Amino acid sequence: MDQIKIGKFIQEKRKEQKLTQSDLAEKLNITDRAVSKWENGKCLPDVSIMHNLCVILKITINDLFSGEIIDMKDNEKKLEEHLLEMTKLKEEKDKQLLRLETIIGLIVTISFLTLIFVSSFIEMDAWIRILLISIGFIIFVIGVGYAIGIEQTAGYYECQKCHYKYIPTYQSVLWAMHINRTRYMKCPKCNKRSWQKKIISRK
Ligand SMILES: [Zn+2]
Repeated sequence: MDQIKIGKFIQEKRKEQKLTQSDLAEKLNITDRAVSKWENGKCLPDVSIMHNLCVILKITINDLFSGEIIDMKDNEKKLEEHLLEMTKLKEEKDKQLLRLETIIGLIVTISFLTLIFVSSFIEMDAWIRILLISIGFIIFVIGVGYAIGIEQTAGYYECQKCHYKYIPTYQSVLWAMHINRTRYMKCPKCNKRSWQKKIISRK
């Protein structure tokens, strides 16, 4: 996808609709800065607002991805290509998120253990000890909560019984027994429990 071309195309279509960057931002409930970033080719509009953006600019999703108006007869082929590209982008982003999760997990564990170690072995007032343990505990809870959020939404889990691939709820990920990212959960499709693996691609 050519972000520069798409950016210029968005700008051109926005001007055709006689909208300023702020007008467009207001209609989409986002900041002017976001619109300016797309138009400069720095990033693409978020998937969640793409549909509304296309409606406002009177273009199709295909036009948007191509950075030009697409002939209707090429439409289907182009749409397939674009969906494929979107899937790849999502998979790439999910991989990055999972790497981030590993880093957060490490930082949280190290800081928790360090604080516990320090408060156990170094001479200090009782209240400082309690404070340090509390801080360690808070870091731990926030860090783990955030990491589980990443693990829940990045990629999919695959049921080992029926091979259904899905995104589980936060609660079911949070409470599931696990070995690394493989979690013992109930499949929403076949209702059987199995050790479900984390996968990036749905295919
Ligand atoms: Zn299943």
